[in-house]
Amino acid sequence: MEIGTNLFDLDQNSMRDYFTALEEKPFRATQVMKWIYHRGVTDLEQMTDLAKPLRTRLQELSCFFLPEIQSRQVSTDATRKWLMQVDEQNSIETVFIPEPDRGTLCVSTQAGCPLACSFCSTGKQGFNRNLGVAEIIGQVWLANRELGYFKERKRIISNVVLMGMGEPLLNFENVSTAVSLMLDDLGFSLARKRVTLSTAGVVPGIYRLAGLHKICLAVSLHAPVDELRDRLVPINRSYPLNELMEACRFYARATDNDPITFEYVMLEGVNDGPAEARQLVRLLEGIPSKVNLIPFNSFPGSEYTRSSRVTIDAFRDILIKAGLMTITRKTRGEDINAACGQLTGLVRARKHTMQNESMALNG
Ligand code: SAH
Repeated sequence: MEIGTNLFDLDQNSMRDYFTALEEKPFRATQVMKWIYHRGVTDLEQMTDLAKPLRTRLQELSCFFLPEIQSRQVSTDATRKWLMQVDEQNSIETVFIPEPDRGTLCVSTQAGCPLACSFCSTGKQGFNRNLGVAEIIGQVWLANRELGYFKERKRIISNVVLMGMGEPLLNFENVSTAVSLMLDDLGFSLARKRVTLSTAGVVPGIYRLAGLHKICLAVSLHAPVDELRDRLVPINRSYPLNELMEACRFYARATDNDPITFEYVMLEGVNDGPAEARQLVRLLEGIPSKVNLIPFNSFPGSEYTRSSRVTIDAFRDILIKAGLMTITRKTRGEDINAACGQLTGLVRARKHTMQNESMALNG
């Protein structure tokens, strides 16, 4: 039960305001944040540099409330997946992908997803609710604890990608606050280029994000023309490609021309031919881009097939010849359903769709 102010919901500014409101010195925020995010301590009694009366007060007024880890799975390729319960109805999934030169944590931002992309298993299950700040930053905190970071003081999670369940730009405020905790030196002190937000193309959200943290942007493109994209990524009907590309140009300019990653799931016979590759080259002209080709990951009830290796390589070669930096994403954690588009958690979804009132972009 969450009683009082959940201190995991507060970024540095709100934490300072919180202590000021308690008529305490704002530097208490620094002390508490160091305990939480540097040492992994959430027991107030252990926060020995806080005066006893303050600890007692915080005991009464605040709490540290996090998702509860329900299960842990480890893939044969060492990818890890946690199922985390966020309330009686909903559990979400968080994935850790170790690589020789980095460790990437893939974080969820919603329980379910309202966007209903036809090839995505999260999208198929419907939408239940946005995650709160504590539920988003809590995934990073819990994964760090699970991986031994607080004990060893050795960074294991070097990168965070907001590419788990949900559409981050439809949960803008909470995602933005959680990102500020990821970047903050008193939080997880990740460099802005080590945090990537992936969107299916919520155009107003892209403009809003451009003014904030300058983190990396990934766009789930999947089709180079509107007619096809309307079918695969239905939000394209609200924000068609010309508007999306304009927003991408704007975002790149706002972040010193950092390349934008374009994700493109390879669906056999649907979007994977040489004609689409050439259309994609044209579409991305003039935008600093990286293309990630993602071999489709199937799930129960999915109607698509993964493109063959030969087809994917041919598609990639057309892009590379045209000067586009292109990689084929390695599929990781498939044996534990931790791969892209396979995260479902346990969401008692009420089958909300994009048409629902709840989908208005908040703020
Ligand atoms: N809603 C955001 C965040 C989710 S990111 C977004 O759409 O970007 C998850 C990534 O995996 C997206 O690029 C998504 O399009 C891709 N994906 C979804 N289902 C997939 C599947 N079955 N196989 C491979 N990639 C998939």
